[in-house]
Amino acid sequence: EQEELRKLISVETVTKAGKRVEVVGNIGKPEDVHQVIENGGDGVGLFRTEFLYMDRNDMPTEEEQFESYKYVAEKLEGKPVVIRTLDIGGDKKLPYLPLPEEMNPFLGYRAIRLCLDRKDIFKVQLRALLRASAYGNIKIMFPMISSVSEFLEAKKVLNECMEELKAEGKEFNANLEVGMMVEIPAAAVAADEFAKHADFFSIGTNDLIQYTLAADRMNEKISYLYDPMHPAVLALIKNTIDAAHRAGKWCGMCGEVAGDERVIPLLVEYDLDEFSMSATSILKAKQIIMETEVL
Ligand code: PEP
Ligand code: MG
Repeated sequence: EQEELRKLISVETVTKAGKRVEVVGNIGKPEDVHQVIENGGDGVGLFRTEFLYMDRNDMPTEEEQFESYKYVAEKLEGKPVVIRTLDIGGDKKLPYLPLPEEMNPFLGYRAIRLCLDRKDIFKVQLRALLRASAYGNIKIMFPMISSVSEFLEAKKVLNECMEELKAEGKEFNANLEVGMMVEIPAAAVAADEFAKHADFFSIGTNDLIQYTLAADRMNEKISYLYDPMHPAVLALIKNTIDAAHRAGKWCGMCGEVAGDERVIPLLVEYDLDEFSMSATSILKAKQIIMETEVL
């Protein structure tokens, strides 16, 4: 079995309908990219950058972040890496960034909400990402987007950073793709509106399921409710993929469901374009995708 799977490392993943799909990895630390490459990943579909900010006593500088993003981009030799901007707050805290206590941290001041409020923090990361985009195939993704105006505001800050870098004579890829996570039900329901502006979607099922079913993703007492196959969840996933395609955009998935052997055949049927998962799940996922009978 393991032998059989190893053979798929350098094989392109094509469905029985003849569609090429990307099977890519999720990473937290820059070095994790090696495991993705060794397991035959077509790139990185989610780089969770919050790990660069955690376990330290101060904010990572633009230079430090630049080096981390450049490292991953270069190791992938032109294969894509989707880098998600800071998704902190809620349960993920930073010792050097005091945040107010909240009644409902998962519904509170976190991720893009925090970044749009603290543009001083946000811009350091965006500048580092843009500068690193000169060294590989970097795509930027904003987390926890719930309204079109949030996405547009985030893009405006990105454009400001581009102008600054241009004035400073620093290189970057002015045409890099800018997408968003679809992990809040509102975004999945109104996906057509978001698809007018975002270059791509990546469905974050970990949060999408918890928000759709009002079932905390960490709470074992109610884990029986946390069901990726719930018809409401499936309907949101399908609508998101269809909306992306109607607008001529691509749609990926980077939540745990993308690597779930029970759900992958359904995602193939829904025409998902990119599956992003932990490195160790990649080969098995490739096999399932290629063996799925398409009606
Ligand atoms: C998700 O919500 O599905 C996701 C990929 O992001 P995270 O698990 O980091 O919240
Ligand atoms: Mg999430």
